[in-house]
Amino acid sequence: MRDTLQAIGCPETRAAMREYLRHQILPCRRRRIEDHLVGCPGCIREFVELRESYWMAGAGSHAGLVAAA
Ligand SMILES: [Zn+2]
Repeated sequence: MRDTLQAIGCPETRAAMREYLRHQILPCRRRRIEDHLVGCPGCIREFVELRESYWMAGAGSHAGLVAAA
């Protein structure tokens, strides 16, 4: 088996989650994060929690960000 896409690890995935949630990330990098998340229960859990905190923080004042997603 050979990976054409360079796999990223947990620290890099978690570091990039905030950029991902703000849509400040390149599509190719986003793809790699998604690939990691589906195979890593620890990171997907971290991601869901972070996403919920972003939604709560943005509720009401920045509803436009959610609508643009
Ligand atoms: Zn991970």
